[in-house]
Amino acid sequence: MDIAVLVKQVPDTYSERKLRDDGTLDRAAADAVIDEIDSRGVEIALQLTEQHGGEVTVVTMGPDRATETLRKALAMGAHQAVHVVDDGLAGSDALQTSAALAAALKTLTFDLVITGNEASDGKSGTVPAMLAERLGLPSVSSARAVSVDGSTLSAEKIVDGGYAEVTASLPAVLSVSEKIAEPRYPNFKGIMAAKKKPLTTLGIAELGLENTGGAAAPCQVVSSSPKPPREAGQKVTDDGTGGSQLAAFLAAERLI
Ligand SMILES: Cc1cc2nc3c(=O)[nH]c(=O)nc-3n(C[C@H](O)[C@H](O)[C@H](O)COP(=O)(O)OP(=O)(O)OC[C@H]3O[C@@H](n4cnc5c(N)ncnc54)[C@H](O)[C@@H]3O)c2cc1C
Repeated sequence: MDIAVLVKQVPDTYSERKLRDDGTLDRAAADAVIDEIDSRGVEIALQLTEQHGGEVTVVTMGPDRATETLRKALAMGAHQAVHVVDDGLAGSDALQTSAALAAALKTLTFDLVITGNEASDGKSGTVPAMLAERLGLPSVSSARAVSVDGSTLSAEKIVDGGYAEVTASLPAVLSVSEKIAEPRYPNFKGIMAAKKKPLTTLGIAELGLENTGGAAAPCQVVSSSPKPPREAGQKVTDDGTGGSQLAAFLAAERLI
């Protein structure tokens, strides 16, 4: 079974994340990493191909430096990579991103597409379903566990209060949750091998895309403002009434 995994390069959660005047993220200002949820997607793909045979192709859309994220996934064990890169894609919204990624996936043969259920920067959580729609495939989302038997995908999908067991016929689009497998760490051999693994780049012309980039994005940022600084917490001096003060505070916050 051949699996395509979407991996997004995102600003490191621990570095300062800034917006530019046009409301887009200043990606150069922050350290960039593979989105943690996508490294779990790569891990699941590797486990499934280790069980059932086949190859893992990792796919990203992003600026030149997103190659680092692809090399990280190749070092984990993915077999080849596809980089959707073109200056004309800068500032794309989720709709445009899903169009570009769907076009790139159509250049591949695959039995399963794996994505994260939500990117840690844009957080729209919409790309997986939009991809399934554009590819005309079933969509299984927020999986915490997954298995494949022949051409049937089975997953435990996280729902309020627990999980639901769902199945779909392959090919399908699967989005994973942060509860799924712990990603393996690339070893030195893997890092060296990654340098030689095939990496294809595709731009707007090769993918036949139209209406690309921020100016043409259906979703426009009209204004943005920095998050207000965190207010200092309430100080409680325990003169014997600390417990009841705390209970009153929690009740006022409707936490109890
Ligand atoms: C702070 C911020 C706010 C934004 N707000 C909006 C908004 O309100 N509306 C809007 O349309 N766009 C918005 N965007 C742009 C949006 O983030 C990008 O278009 C993005 O590529 C897709 O949306 P997402 O990050 O929400 O993806 P999600 O749908 O949350 O991503 C789910 C999964 O899809 C895959 N994926 C997503 N993007 C890529 C990629 N570029 N390459 C490879 N795999 C990918 C990953 O596996 C990811 O885990 C915002 C971006 C930022 C940084």
